[in-house]
Amino acid sequence: MSADGYTGKVLRVDLSNEKISTEALNKEWAKQFVGGKGLGARYLFEELKPGTDPMSPDNILSIWTGPLVGTLVPLTSRYVIVTKSPLTGTFLDSYAGGFFGPEMKYAGYDGVIIKGKAKKPVYLWLNDGKVEIRDAKNIWGKDTYKTEELIRKETGEEMARVASIGQAGENLSLISSVTNDLTRNAGRGGTGAAFGAKNLKAVAARGTLGVEVPDMASLLKMTKEMIKTDVVGNPDHAGMITDGTPILVEMSNDAGILPTRNWHDGTFEGHDGINSESIKTRVLVRKKACFDCAIACGSWSKVKAGAFSGAATEGPEYETLGLCGSNCGIKNVEAVIKFVEDCDRVGLDSISAGNAVGLAMDLYEKGVLSKKDVNGLDLRFGNEDAYAKMPGIMASREGIGDLLADGALRAGTRIGGGAEKLVMHVKGLEYPAYDPRGTIGMALAYATSDRGACHLRAWPVAADAYGSADPWSTEGKAATCVEDQTRTSIKWSFIFCDFYGVNFPNMAKYYSAVTGQPSSEEVLRKTGRRIWNLTRSFNVREGFARKDDTLPERMEKEPLPSGKTAGKSVSKASFEKMLSEYYGLWGWDDQGRPTKATLQDAGLGDIVAKLSHLK
Ligand code: SF4
Repeated sequence: MSADGYTGKVLRVDLSNEKISTEALNKEWAKQFVGGKGLGARYLFEELKPGTDPMSPDNILSIWTGPLVGTLVPLTSRYVIVTKSPLTGTFLDSYAGGFFGPEMKYAGYDGVIIKGKAKKPVYLWLNDGKVEIRDAKNIWGKDTYKTEELIRKETGEEMARVASIGQAGENLSLISSVTNDLTRNAGRGGTGAAFGAKNLKAVAARGTLGVEVPDMASLLKMTKEMIKTDVVGNPDHAGMITDGTPILVEMSNDAGILPTRNWHDGTFEGHDGINSESIKTRVLVRKKACFDCAIACGSWSKVKAGAFSGAATEGPEYETLGLCGSNCGIKNVEAVIKFVEDCDRVGLDSISAGNAVGLAMDLYEKGVLSKKDVNGLDLRFGNEDAYAKMPGIMASREGIGDLLADGALRAGTRIGGGAEKLVMHVKGLEYPAYDPRGTIGMALAYATSDRGACHLRAWPVAADAYGSADPWSTEGKAATCVEDQTRTSIKWSFIFCDFYGVNFPNMAKYYSAVTGQPSSEEVLRKTGRRIWNLTRSFNVREGFARKDDTLPERMEKEPLPSGKTAGKSVSKASFEKMLSEYYGLWGWDDQGRPTKATLQDAGLGDIVAKLSHLK
C-alpha cells in the first residue's frame, strides 16, 4: 500500500466462471479522474461495449471508493456503484453513506469490478485482501435487514458491513436499490437490478488494513481545524445539524415546489404533518451519523402508536417526504416511516417508488385503473392503509406491482391511454422533489444530468426558489448548472457527502494532504470538466443527444394551481434557450455532443476515436 490515500488495488470478479483477480490501480487514471465517479466512469467507458444490455451478464457493475474515504477527512464515508443503468440505459453512479465505503477500503480495495452472472445466487466476501464468492442460498429471498444479520453470522464477523439487495432487486425491479447499514441506499437508476441480474445478493466487507497518508500528524491538525471552521462552524451547515434535510419540506411548500398528488400541485395542505417539526416532536428517537461525520444530519425515527406502531427508519429525508409523503397525498410522517422502512427492507428507491405509487393513485382517481387493477385496494391519494402495502406489492411484482416495479415511465407506457404523459421523469428516471415550474433552473439540471432527472449534479433551486434570485428567469441558469456539474463531478470523485458544502480550494487542500500531490482550484476544475465530459460522452456513445434532454409536456401544458407558483409553467421556448446556452458553455455542438476540441482541452483526446459523431 502506498502512502497516498489509495490502497492501490482493484479487485476483479467474473461471476460466470468464478474467476477472482487483483490488479494494480491505474495510477495515471487515478491522477486524471481521482476516484469514485471519475474513476468508475473511466473504467466503464473503456471496458463496456457500447449498446450492451444493462441486464445482461456483459454489463459491468463496479463499486468505488475515493482517496479520502476512510481517512480522517470529514464526511467522506461514501461508496459509489457505477454501471450502465438498468432503468435508463445511461451512465449510472449511485452513492450511499454509512460505513460500507470505508470498510471496503480497509478490506483492501479502491474498486471492485464485477462482470458475468453467477449460476446460482451468491455473495462476495472481502476480508483483509482475501476474497470469496459464497453461496447465498440461505439468504436469497430475505430482506436487507435479515441479509445483514445472516451474513454477519455466517462470516463470524460482527463488524462486517454489507451492501445488499432485497426481494425487489432479486425480482429485477428496475427501481430497486442496494442497501447498506440498514437504511443507507445507493438508490437511483436500478442498482439493485444490476446486482440481481448477476445473481449477486450482496457484497460484504470487513477490513483492518487501514489507509496510509504521507503525514498523519499534519492531516490530523488540518482536519481538526477544518471541522471547526468549515464543517461545524460553517453557517451553511446550521440547518443540516439541527434538522437535516426535512427542513426543506416547509421551504419547498412556501416556494410552491413541493410535489403534491402526482405533481398536480406545488403546495400541500398536509405539509405540517410531514415536516421537520413533526419528526422532532412525534417520532425522533436520537440523532445518527455516518462514519467520520461531524454534521450528523440523520435521525433515527420510530412510530410510537397507531396503525404503524413500531415502524422505524433513518430520517425520513426530504426527497422521501416529498415523493412518498405529499406526492402520494400522505399527511402523517408515521405512514411515511412505515413505507420507507419497507422500501429499505425490500430494496426500493424511495424517490422512484413514491413517483410510481403517486402515478397509480392518480390513475385510480381518474378511473383509468379500477380497484381490480390495483390489487383490490382503494388506492386514493392519502389512503394510508392501501399506500403502506405498496412497497411489498412492488417488490413481489404482485398485480399492479409488476408494472410499478419497473418505474413510473414503463408503468405509464404499458397502461396506455395517455398514462405515460402523467409521469414526471427525464430519460426514465423519475423527478426528485423540486418542481421545475417554480425553479426553472432545475428544469435544466434535470434535463442535462448524466443519469436522468437528478438533483445531485446541479442545484440551482438553492439560489432561486430557496434564495433571492428570480426562480422563473432563465438568466444565469445555464452557467449555474455548468458550475455545479463541474464541482459535483469532482466532489463525487473524492467522495464527499452531498451535505458538506466544501469548496474547490478546500478540496484541493484535502487532496494534497492525503495524496501528497500538489493540487489547486484550477486543477480540480479541469478534472471536474474532464469527468463531466466523459460521462456525457458515454451517454452520447449510447445514442443519447439533445432529443433526450427533454421534459414531460406537463411542465409546459399544466400550470400549477396554487400558492407562490399558481399559474406557473416552463415554456418550451425558455427551456430550449437555456439548453442551447448550456451546450455552448460546455463547448458541445447543438445536439449536445462534445466536440473534438472540447475533449482534447479536457484531457480526453484518447476517446475521440471512440465516438462515432467525431469520425
Ligand atoms: S451529513 Fe448526514 S449523510 Fe452526510 S455523512 Fe453526515 S450523517 Fe451521513
